[in-house]
This record gives sequence, structure tokens and C-alpha cells, in this order.
Amino acid sequence: MEAILKPKYRKFSDLLVHPPKVIKNVFSNITWNINSDKKVVYLTFDDGPIPDITEKILLALDIFDAKATFFCVGENVKRYPHIYKKILDSGHTAGNHTFSHMNGLKSGTEEYIDNIEKASKYINSKLFRPPHGRMKSSQQILIEKEYNIILWDVLSYDFNKKLNKITCFNNVKHFTRPGSIVVFHDNIKASNNMFYALTQTLLLYKEAGYKFEALTEAVIKNQIPLPVKKSKIFTGFF
Ligand SMILES: [Zn+2]
Repeated sequence: MEAILKPKYRKFSDLLVHPPKVIKNVFSNITWNINSDKKVVYLTFDDGPIPDITEKILLALDIFDAKATFFCVGENVKRYPHIYKKILDSGHTAGNHTFSHMNGLKSGTEEYIDNIEKASKYINSKLFRPPHGRMKSSQQILIEKEYNIILWDVLSYDFNKKLNKITCFNNVKHFTRPGSIVVFHDNIKASNNMFYALTQTLLLYKEAGYKFEALTEAVIKNQIPLPVKKSKIFTGFF
């Protein structure tokens, strides 16, 4: 577990897996991780709910007594409300990931905000994660008035078909430490890599004494404060 305490960049693409401190400090109004000295990891799942896939994730989380956060796509919640309900009934939290997985950089500000609002009819949450981790500054300014914008500390890259499942797990293993927000995807494209990386992550960190908790507004608000520069605008780093 030594790598968990002192993660080092191994190659250039690691900058995407684990955003460097300099970026996190500049975009300090965004939650990248939870400042914590406790052995807690925040697992997050983007793009669901999807039948079978999300349900299997819920089973895996249950086995490890793990709670997580699901950044749901509104139209998927509309289509599969029973799975969305199951997520919440199991003690996990949900976040808004737009209604139609809209790419902020390719959308007008009004259109983008409308899409988030449409999703909010199905997803009752003040947590928001922009699809593709991108949005325009004009969008960010409006969103952060109402939402906590959550990105991540560790990206498993499970959605990348060119990466195998072991590489995805190694991404998580190498960079995850107390308070990390880790991204997986509950979509069809990522499922093979995701299930392997997720179960290995649950096994490894449970054994190392970690707890898996869900993100809430209170968790974000009550974290250990860090001296950081005030908000700048985030426009995406890839
Ligand atoms: Zn997404």
C-alpha cells in the first residue's frame, strides 16, 4: 500500500488520471477530493442508471458495506426510475450529470443550464458533475450558484477501450489515498474494465482499513479547510 501514501506520476497521461495540485488550486471552487486524514474513499459512478450494470454494482457495494455516489443522466433515471430508487434506498447518494449527457463545450450556456434543470426534475441533488469533466466558464458561474461541482482526484479510465482492466485498476491503486474521489462508469462501454477495477479496489482498500462513503453536501461543507486561492474558472483540462 506504499504507493497509496506517496503517489508519483509515472507517465504524461497520469496528469489526466490524477489532476495535479496546481490545477486543483487554480480551480478551487470545484471539489476534486475531500480533505481528510481518515481512511475514507469516495467512489463515484457516472452515466447510469443502466439495467443489470448498476444493479450489479449495488450488489458489489453491499457485499463490502460500501456507500457511493451515482452521477446520473436524467434520461436514464426517467427510463429506469426503479433502479434510481434502488440506489437511494440502498443508502447511496445521487448527483446531476445533465439530462442527456450534454457536452458543455459544445452547447450554449442557456441550453446547458436548461438540460441540468430538466435533469433536476428526476434527480433530487445539489451535486453536479459535468459530462466529460468539461464546461464553459459562463456555465460554471451559473451552476456553482446552485450546485456543488464535483470532479475527481482519480480517474480509473474504465471507459477507454484501449486500456485493459488491470491498467484501470492500477490507475486507481496508484493514486487513491484518504479523501480521494474516484470515478468509474456504470455504462455498457466501461463495464468490463469497471467491474474488475471496482472489485479489486473494494478488496484492496477494505483490507487496508478504508471505508467507502457517499458524497453529500455536508461531507463537502464539513471537510478540513485548506488554505486555497479563491475561485477561478474551469474550462476542462482534456
Ligand atoms: Zn458521463
